Amino acid sequence: MEEWIEQLQNSVNTLEKLKKYINVTPEEEEGITTLNTKWGTTPYFASLMERDNPNCPIRKQVVPSVKEKENRYGIPNYLIWKENRATDEVRPDSIARQYYDRIAFTVTDMCANYCRHCFRKELVVDRDLKLRMDVEEGLDWIREHEEIRDVLVTGGDPFILSDDRIEYIIRKLREIPHIEMIRFGTRTPIVLPHRITQGLMKVLSGYHKVPVWINTQCNHANEITEQTAQAVYDLLSCGVNVGNQAVLLKGINDDVESFKKLHQKLLAVRIRPYYVFYCEPAPGIDHFRTPVEKGAELIRDALRGHTTGLAQPMYVIATNIGKIPLMPDYYFVDKNEKEYTLRNYKGEITTLPNIPE
Ligand SMILES: *Cc1c(COP(=O)(O)O)cnc(C)c1O
Ligand code: SF4
Repeated sequence: MEEWIEQLQNSVNTLEKLKKYINVTPEEEEGITTLNTKWGTTPYFASLMERDNPNCPIRKQVVPSVKEKENRYGIPNYLIWKENRATDEVRPDSIARQYYDRIAFTVTDMCANYCRHCFRKELVVDRDLKLRMDVEEGLDWIREHEEIRDVLVTGGDPFILSDDRIEYIIRKLREIPHIEMIRFGTRTPIVLPHRITQGLMKVLSGYHKVPVWINTQCNHANEITEQTAQAVYDLLSCGVNVGNQAVLLKGINDDVESFKKLHQKLLAVRIRPYYVFYCEPAPGIDHFRTPVEKGAELIRDALRGHTTGLAQPMYVIATNIGKIPLMPDYYFVDKNEKEYTLRNYKGEITTLPNIPE
């Protein structure tokens, strides 16, 4: 059996199995025994947790918490609102649309790691929202909508599907004349790097007019290993670029040092930071959320000017009307007829001539 399938079959999803990896605290045990939720991770990702640190940044993403029972700020039926499903346009459940030229195509509700902070928590983790993830229905809709040029295949985690299934989705999308690019959102390079097998590489590789792009999700430098680096290299060798979509998570990556180290380490394994998302107002994840300004402050204080330009993601909040950038805006001081006054990351001031049109 392939190792990635073995990893999934041996998912660390019971208290007994978890105890092999960490010393479970009474609070964690209460979360596990009292919440009605899907949870679990791969043995590989579990082995990256710190045995005696309940504040371990990986552990908080893996182990259910009693705090998930609280919900002061989360929007119920979040996905219906967020993915714009309550509009007049008739779309299959698998198609989420916020933009004219691109859509998100949900093909599965299974994941290798059931992230506690997931904005699709109601669907993927708690499972009290039911949507039909019918691939054929989605493909038909895409075929009929010639304005769609970019399809973002998501889930769940689409790389949980078999090589054949992934090959089928890519082939069918490439057959549609108006599709110019295909994107996959998958956490497997981080939580299950074994998934990038020779077989999958065969599916992804080769020169094609319609490229495949990948975005993964890595939220802390501790999630990056030698195996991550190899998986990303293998994907790149297939002509597939790998970007990162981190989530800003309280107590995990919301301090200057963790935030900087995460972005530096991503580049060290050839992953290009793409987005940092504000943790969305889905129900039961209040405890992961920071003030909205936090992400912009971190880019200002940890990244811009302080480290490699390639390490800079765009900080956005994903809303029902699309992603809204929330970047720091310290740089503009003044403008008059003669000149612009600008500020750099150190607070130093410079001027540039204002050239009339
Ligand atoms: C995030 C998202 C996209 C892709 O947005 P980009 O900014 O192009 O990466 C497309 N459709 C939906 C519904 C999304 O949520
Ligand atoms: S892998 Fe993605 S979809 Fe799955 S639980 Fe994590 S954040 Fe949610």
